Amino acid sequence: MKHEFFDRGNPPEKVYRGFVRRVKPGEDVHCTVVSPVFWNCHVHWMGRTVPCPRDRGHCIHCKTAIPRKYLGYLYVRNESNGKYEHLELPLDASHDLLDAIGKEMDLRGVRFHAKRRGGKKTGIVFDLKARLEQVAPGFELPSDKAPDEILGYLWQINAAKLHLWGGNDLPPQGEVA
Ligand SMILES: [Zn+2]
Repeated sequence: MKHEFFDRGNPPEKVYRGFVRRVKPGEDVHCTVVSPVFWNCHVHWMGRTVPCPRDRGHCIHCKTAIPRKYLGYLYVRNESNGKYEHLELPLDASHDLLDAIGKEMDLRGVRFHAKRRGGKKTGIVFDLKARLEQVAPGFELPSDKAPDEILGYLWQINAAKLHLWGGNDLPPQGEVA
């Protein structure tokens, strides 16, 4: 039996599995948060991203003093395109956002505009807006989604080895890696 695909002689299309949203200079990100709390992880850069367990005693890279970095994720509705995405935030920005909202508050339904002040190394500024229930009562957000699938794909690692944790118990600001 002949297959149309082979007849055309085209390679299979690369399956696009997505991305994580970052706040880039000059690019405003308008979103509504779906996650009730942050998704958190630590990583090492070893030419590629390698997840680090929360307990550094269990990490061979920490033992050899390779710096590690915190990454925070929120599942959000991108208000610019109506799509659901994972927003990635560095430690300082995650702290700033939680300080502005209140650590004990439910993040689900929080709306904000995020933008970078100037260059890449400068901080992210959040402009908090009225919560979703105030501007669109009855709007149903979907269930929260952990970033394990997308990170596993982007970092080419088994999602079970990501060492993600959920909660607003972020590492202290200025934690020396
Ligand atoms: Zn480590």
